[in-house]
Amino acid sequence: MPVLVMKFGGTSVANLDRIRRAAKRIGVEVAKGYDVIVIVSAMSGKTNELVGWVDEISPLYDAREYDAVVSSGENVTAGLMALTLQEMDIPARSWQGWQVPLLTDGAHSAARILDIPTDNINQKFGEGMKVAVVAGFQGLSPEGRITTLGRGGSDTTAVAFAAAFDAERCDIYTDVDGVYTTDPRICEKARKLDKISFEEMLELASLGAKVLQTRSVELAMRYKVKLRVLSSFEEQSDEAGTLVVDEEEIMESNVVSGVAYSRDEAKMTVVSVADRPGIAAIIFNALSDEGINVDMIVQNISDEGRTDMTFSCPTNQVARAEKALLAVKERGDLNYAELVADTDVAKVSVVGIGMRSQSGVAAKMFKVLSDEGINIKVITTSEIKISVLIDRKYMELAVQALHDAFELDKAA
Ligand code: ADP
Ligand code: ASP
Ligand code: MG
Repeated sequence: MPVLVMKFGGTSVANLDRIRRAAKRIGVEVAKGYDVIVIVSAMSGKTNELVGWVDEISPLYDAREYDAVVSSGENVTAGLMALTLQEMDIPARSWQGWQVPLLTDGAHSAARILDIPTDNINQKFGEGMKVAVVAGFQGLSPEGRITTLGRGGSDTTAVAFAAAFDAERCDIYTDVDGVYTTDPRICEKARKLDKISFEEMLELASLGAKVLQTRSVELAMRYKVKLRVLSSFEEQSDEAGTLVVDEEEIMESNVVSGVAYSRDEAKMTVVSVADRPGIAAIIFNALSDEGINVDMIVQNISDEGRTDMTFSCPTNQVARAEKALLAVKERGDLNYAELVADTDVAKVSVVGIGMRSQSGVAAKMFKVLSDEGINIKVITTSEIKISVLIDRKYMELAVQALHDAFELDKAA
């Protein structure tokens, strides 16, 4: 039997009614003759609640226990989904990550998938089971501990299963009906794309468009998984949603094809460090040892042999970053005057493969922001994206102004 992977995100399994609706949708695919692997998220809001409890009890928590707690939301939905399917006379059972087992490395809270043995689930399909419901987001470390794959990780579970089982397609059911030029929740002119290239989707995801987790797009690209994003709230045809495809499959595209934002950014400045070889290495090694995801980096012009080093990282890693930098200072390896954290910033980015061949995008972006009176704090660019760090209160304005200026509401 051909295998289909269907993933349902938090809002698509938010309550029993939604679970029943999703189960009906699964029933449609079973009736077409598929063996279906369903990946479920926790009910919406559940993971945030669990993370909140961990933070309250232990701000600099043990990541192994964080994973033990936050992985639990998915277990509930997996069992409920299997029960709902059974009530519809569809043979189904649930699997937690460790039961598959979905094997990961030991990087707790951001684990990478190493292997997904297929024999266990395939044997059940062979015995007449039609749907394997798997708890997303979780796996098993080499030490036998429960791991999680990072926020939004059920998308990655889904794509990894699609690759392991050689599925015909991986359908990501969510609360919007596809991938848009920007988040439709903050820009009403956002336009749904029928297709988007892996490269652009990868950039949009990594720059904050949470509709797909970045790792899921990477995996789909590497294993050539046919990946589709669609809504679980509407009746769906076979052409619904957005397909993520190879660049060659897209005939024409705008120079800029999307705008992404990330609210969850902090800017940290190590004030007055010596301007000599090795200082950046000390700072960023210390941060990396502590597992801080440093994104943008700027070093100021030096003045009398001293300079400031500014970087950005996720807001929830500021406390850890401070701890790491304080430790190197106390060890006498680094001398600085002060550590300043600005947690009221956001990152806004424009993305498009057309930027490879067309210049002037950065100039236009900066002009648009300046016309809106928005000050740019940090800039980074790559071949197909430009990102700026700005005050968070201007984030939505910046997204809307850029969407207008690059005319993303109009197709190429
Ligand atoms: P799920 O719970 O189904 O995994 P997520 O909340 O993780 O859903 O992702 C879906 C959300 O992603 C949408 O509700 C939307 O607000 C947001 N989003 C951000 N950027 C985009 C985009 N470019 N296209 C579509 N959705 C986007
Ligand atoms: N429940 C997890 C989260 O909220 C994983 C997921 O939904 O993809 O991040
Ligand atoms: Mg998600």
